[in-house]
Amino acid sequence: MSDPVKYLLPEAALPSEWYNLVADLPVPPPPVLHPGTLQPVGPADLAPLFPEALIRQEVATERRIEIPEPVREIYRLWRPTPLYRARRLEKALGTPARIFYKYEGVSPAGSHKPNTAIPQAFYNKEAGTKRIATETGAGQWGSSLALAGAMFGIEIDVYMVKVSYHQKPYRRALMESYGARCVASPSTETNAGRAVLAANPDSPGSLGIAISEAVEIAASRDDTKYALGSVLNHVLLHQTVIGDEAIAQMDMAGAYPDVIVGCTGGGSNFAGIAFPFLGAKLRGGPDVRIVAVEPAACPTLTRGTYAYDFGDTAGLTPLTKMHTLGSTFVPPGFHAGGLRYHGMAPLVSHIKELGLIDAVAYRQTECFAAGLLFARNEGIVPAPEANHAVKGAIEEALKAKAEGKEKTILFCLSGHGHFDMGAYSEYFADRLMDLEYDEGALASALAVLPKVP
Ligand SMILES: *Cc1c(COP(=O)(O)O)cnc(C)c1O
Repeated sequence: MSDPVKYLLPEAALPSEWYNLVADLPVPPPPVLHPGTLQPVGPADLAPLFPEALIRQEVATERRIEIPEPVREIYRLWRPTPLYRARRLEKALGTPARIFYKYEGVSPAGSHKPNTAIPQAFYNKEAGTKRIATETGAGQWGSSLALAGAMFGIEIDVYMVKVSYHQKPYRRALMESYGARCVASPSTETNAGRAVLAANPDSPGSLGIAISEAVEIAASRDDTKYALGSVLNHVLLHQTVIGDEAIAQMDMAGAYPDVIVGCTGGGSNFAGIAFPFLGAKLRGGPDVRIVAVEPAACPTLTRGTYAYDFGDTAGLTPLTKMHTLGSTFVPPGFHAGGLRYHGMAPLVSHIKELGLIDAVAYRQTECFAAGLLFARNEGIVPAPEANHAVKGAIEEALKAKAEGKEKTILFCLSGHGHFDMGAYSEYFADRLMDLEYDEGALASALAVLPKVP
């Protein structure tokens, strides 16, 4: 028998609980602060935006949280997801390293994001929410929440970052196929959007601006809540099904990772693959190096400041301590739209400060080159965001080759690129540039960070 290419878990092995890293941290994460009082926020502050069950998960300290059966039932449409051994890529690189990847592109929306969209819609339905307003960058989150809205009968309004809205018309069509409404942001529907347009009619938009619009809508209507596709603790929690499945699959392969690689926009797929392994290490299990890969044009972890900041541009959200480029910073319009957020998940930022993870930044053309090498060997065309993880894994494999070391690498292939072929076409036409962020704009954005004593 030849060696396995993929490791499939039976449906019965679908995780029944999510894993909460907070339970195993040596130091608890800093509190979330109210922007007016600078006191820690309580559940009442968040109640206009989120249903109670999600607020409880946001501040939960228990290690395991049960996944409701209706959520598991929908997860089973595509979960457990496959774990692959990238043998052909290993051979192409001539590396002694073993490369495994967990593939989240098999979900109906094509990425890991339905892992949290489904439970968020479920808890909203339970709480009687009629409509959810949200933002989307590349459109992955908007289409995932649109899918979840269709499953649970909730109206979905998506504020989509304008540059992506025009780059990715088929993402919008996918959201509309699931019955959602999609609006280019900044829009004229909200005070936040109108203010940005007044100052800069040509604004390409940003996740921070789109979040302001969605939060404003949710805060001003009784039947409407807000949902975020990354960054928050409960989102990271929901994504841990990725890593828990991967632990079982690596075990099937008789292997354990020496290094885990994930791309980081807001940090959710990275947390999903890494936190269960990190938790095991913190409880005395095997050591593992964990590497976050981010775009050089929006380098939150490698260049940002660790400070209290707003999650949005208009300053409507609570203050969280995170690696940030400043909530008013608008990154250049590079193609990994899902990695264009100004901040990083507070939990990911916290463990970076504790020295539990490493971070590296790569430029988009080198990431596309890595993604194409992967596609031509493994057959899957990665999403531009996922190309960053592919690049990180390839660098680790080449390092192992240079050192002549056998090493086991695991990375998260967070989604496929079938809605991103425009970006690939640009790359083939030599029109994909390595955009630089504006140092002056970054300095200005960091200079106006909220002052928290
Ligand atoms: C949204 C997205 C990302 C970035 O978001 P994280 O919260 O950092 O995971 C990465 N890959 C894909 C495919 C995405 O859709």
